[in-house]
Amino acid sequence: MTGIGEAVGRLLDGLGVDRALWTDGSMPSVTPLTGERLTMVRVADAATTDEALDKAGAAFRSWRHVPAPRRGELVRLWGEELRGAKDDLARLVTIEAGKIPSEGAGEVQEMIDICDFAVGLSRQLYGLTIATERPAHRMMEVWHPLGVIGVISAFNFPVAVWAWNAALALVCGNSVVWKPSEKTPLTALAVQAVFGRALARFGDAPDGLAQLLIGGREVGEALVDDNRVALLSATGSTRMGRSVAPRLAARFARAILELGGNNGAIVAPSADLDLALRGVAFGAMGTAGQRCTTTRRVFVHDSIYDGFVARLKAAYASVGVGNPLESEVLVGPLIDRAAFEAMEGALGAARAAGGVVYGGERVGDGASFYVQPALVEMPGQIGPVLEETFAPILYVMRYYDLDQVIELHNDVAAGLSSAIFTTDVREAERFLAASDCGIANVNLGTSGAEIGGAFGGEKETGGGRESGSDSWRQYMRRATNTINYSDALPLAQGVSFEL
Ligand code: NAD
Repeated sequence: MTGIGEAVGRLLDGLGVDRALWTDGSMPSVTPLTGERLTMVRVADAATTDEALDKAGAAFRSWRHVPAPRRGELVRLWGEELRGAKDDLARLVTIEAGKIPSEGAGEVQEMIDICDFAVGLSRQLYGLTIATERPAHRMMEVWHPLGVIGVISAFNFPVAVWAWNAALALVCGNSVVWKPSEKTPLTALAVQAVFGRALARFGDAPDGLAQLLIGGREVGEALVDDNRVALLSATGSTRMGRSVAPRLAARFARAILELGGNNGAIVAPSADLDLALRGVAFGAMGTAGQRCTTTRRVFVHDSIYDGFVARLKAAYASVGVGNPLESEVLVGPLIDRAAFEAMEGALGAARAAGGVVYGGERVGDGASFYVQPALVEMPGQIGPVLEETFAPILYVMRYYDLDQVIELHNDVAAGLSSAIFTTDVREAERFLAASDCGIANVNLGTSGAEIGGAFGGEKETGGGRESGSDSWRQYMRRATNTINYSDALPLAQGVSFEL
């Protein structure tokens, strides 16, 4: 084993992950930091998946009867365990997903935050009492646990997305089965081990309450097609969503789809340009452009274009790119060769469409793929600008009129996150009213959401909402109950049916 391999071994041993699961398998685990293979991870076959779903069903039938605040106690313990394991998990996120340390730590913090949120929620799964038209009747809406929740997650948020789903699903009385990205199996094993500690302290949770199935697309497909999975929450590319959505619809299963984004920001003439520069730079270059909320398009008003874009180019030229374990950098590696090739392809297409490219060169060689983030001045919203390329490419365009640019901003297939930088309240409000995305910000970038809000997007982003606000309702089923406490039987709408 190499230096990183040994470090990973120590981390996994320290977190109590069963060695057989990550030394004795058939699926390679690769770090994007160096491109080297770290170990071979055990994958779930069809029989394991089938057994896991049976166990999850049994766990649900027991867990649903545990009072919700008591369910919250398990999630409270989980949050405590995550606090203790934060540094180790963050380091694994850096090694497996390539995030810089502060972003790795931020991702684990998101898990802790959603646990806190879910604990409070466990005492607030409120229903409604509704005015009824019939005398001596009471009508109410009551929320019940739903069933087995399947979670499919993407490589770029290898642990937070699982927690967003699991923390809510568990307090809502469900069991959970998770299929993480095949590119990040080790962080998944680590998180599962940390959850196991909380389970041990909790004491009497049913076996199979939260299970992990490591594997590729075929394991995800098994969850999609299985009637035992009541709700599937799938995070990943729009291509994945296109395959998953009709299959879920065919069996009338519930779906939360969190798919690709093509996020835009507008920099208006009145913007605080120092703030806008930092907001756009973090949004576009942070996580090496590998966030669903990464800023991919920026529209700059003609009157400030030259000065602002010159400053952006300077920021792009000076940003530190490299192995985040070895030096203080802001931009780590792309996940793999395919990501690099997609970036090269998009930059080629941009040039062919009249774009002028700054940056974008590969940094270093070998089996890892580091790139200088690319800024591309485009003559219009054409060609590759219309699509998400999961790499640090920022397309810059000039605009003259706010209404026109908002229309242009909305004129892409995805609808996840959006932003305007302005100090003009009228402009800000016009933008917020018109952006067709699930997230619309003023004077902050497109990326970096908090867990308190509902997270997700419209159009080809899939329409799902996860995390805060009332997202919990998707993990429950609602029943409308009407009780007649009179000795008459008045019918609704004045219908008469006298025998
Ligand atoms: P991906 O679509 O390649 O894979 C995501 C997950 O889906 C993996 O676990 C994969 O094994 C599984 N999968 C793929 N095809 C499947 C199928 N047909 N049936 C069942 N499961 C299948 O995505 P990725 O490269 O891991 O992640 C990057 C993409 O995810 C980007 O498009 C990004 O925008 C998106 N993403 C979206 C959000 C969001 O909240 N909207 C968050 C993170 C990432």
